[in-house]
Amino acid sequence: MSDPKTLPAGTTLLLKGGRALTPEADWHDPPRTDIAIAGDRIAGVTADYALRDERNVDVIDARDFLVLPGFVNAHYHSHDVLAKGTLEEVPLETWRLYALPPQYPPRSVEEIYARTLLGALECLRSGMTTIQDMLTLYPYDERHMNAVMAAYDKVGIRVIFALQYADRKGIETIPFWKDTFPAELHPLLSTSTEPERQIDLLGHFEATRLKAPPLPLVSWALGPSSPERCSPAIMQRTIELARRYDLPVYTHIYESRGMALQARLTIPEYSGLLIRRLAEEGVLDPRLNFAHSVWLSRAEIDMLAEHGAGVVLNPQGNLKMKCGIAPIRALQDAGVRIGLGCDNCSCSDAQNMFVAMKLFTLLAAVSDPIPGPPQAVAALRAATQAGAEGARLGHALGRIAPGFKADLTLIDTSDPTFSPLNSVARQLVHIEAGRGVRHVVVDGKVVVRDRKLTTLDEATIYEAVQAVMPQFRKDFAAISQRVAKLQPWLDRAHRQIMAAELDIERLPFGSN
Ligand SMILES: [Zn+2]
Repeated sequence: MSDPKTLPAGTTLLLKGGRALTPEADWHDPPRTDIAIAGDRIAGVTADYALRDERNVDVIDARDFLVLPGFVNAHYHSHDVLAKGTLEEVPLETWRLYALPPQYPPRSVEEIYARTLLGALECLRSGMTTIQDMLTLYPYDERHMNAVMAAYDKVGIRVIFALQYADRKGIETIPFWKDTFPAELHPLLSTSTEPERQIDLLGHFEATRLKAPPLPLVSWALGPSSPERCSPAIMQRTIELARRYDLPVYTHIYESRGMALQARLTIPEYSGLLIRRLAEEGVLDPRLNFAHSVWLSRAEIDMLAEHGAGVVLNPQGNLKMKCGIAPIRALQDAGVRIGLGCDNCSCSDAQNMFVAMKLFTLLAAVSDPIPGPPQAVAALRAATQAGAEGARLGHALGRIAPGFKADLTLIDTSDPTFSPLNSVARQLVHIEAGRGVRHVVVDGKVVVRDRKLTTLDEATIYEAVQAVMPQFRKDFAAISQRVAKLQPWLDRAHRQIMAAELDIERLPFGSN
């Protein structure tokens, strides 16, 4: 071993002797490494830094730890954090009526603050350092936005923040709904959008927020809900803003069979393909991230690759709502950027990247049953680097390298999960489930130390949640009653969606 090196000037935190997943390491067997952090950045990565009398350096003995780039949860919504564990056996189209109901009593500032904190806490405790929050604030209220920002500022997680918007009513965008439901029920079916106000909202967002610098750990993104729920005009406005301010764009595509069917039925001029519509409208570019992408056709996968657009896969939610499995290998083979997310708390329901990585690798049993390349390292890269690249922050986040932001997750290996240690990457993906996450560093600060949040007392978050739950439960019960009344028609429409013919021009198992 070479002689110990001198610590870089300004080092504030030193992670000593952990096995770190640096870009050049073998992720199955990463060597022991010292990581010096100065302020918010990684200042140096070397085999051994000499420690003399560094009184101002916080030294974490990482010899029993794996050091990972912090996970990037590239698709998440904080609006339904309090609804975790409420639903089961609900198809996507029905689920939207719970998660984004048309008539939702306005939420209190306290509730929004509490749920944002709780969601961020769960993400941090499972090793995520960045989350992409695609948030519906409906009806929009500046005080609610301020509560969200205050919560994120307090908790200390990095956030790629997008408001979710759409300018087409839900009933217009789901196959068979309009004809199946009696007209008097139609007002109960349009999920929370106010078509006439959405362009105004974007204008307001630009005037009040986009021009101003965001919080130190928050950066802006744009969140058109999904192409079929967004007119060409609002997609144009989106890409115009994204290009002007160089922002990433997050949207949903083909989460369910119904969404693909809707495209076939309504846009014959684009061969029924939403990605073709976006390409021809001039909107498709590397700024776009398509959550789900379960029902992409072969032609659309090629279009994504050609235009440099990426996908964010959310396998947990897709399985819980029986939506299907994304064509993982076909996307990989085409060279499409693949990030991972955990989506809503009422559909996934866990914010847990280990589950997402494991499903990403295991679902090939269905999407690509013929043996292909090993996937554990690919899953780890999707959960870190690719998510950062999708956020247009690949130059600063997602890797353990000098100059990169110090966003790191330390996994305790004193655990049966890692004994014996045969492959770090495979054991992280196939065995670890979150129990090992012990310290989390965001922007150079240890925000989780020994499994406890350091930025605020976790007990106060649970108390704040307790305090708002009576009202939340009351309102959620009223929504559930409303959905129950719609159930016979919802079921009928869903059966029609599942029975309808759908040309997916896909090979039997997704890839070639
Ligand atoms: Zn989503």
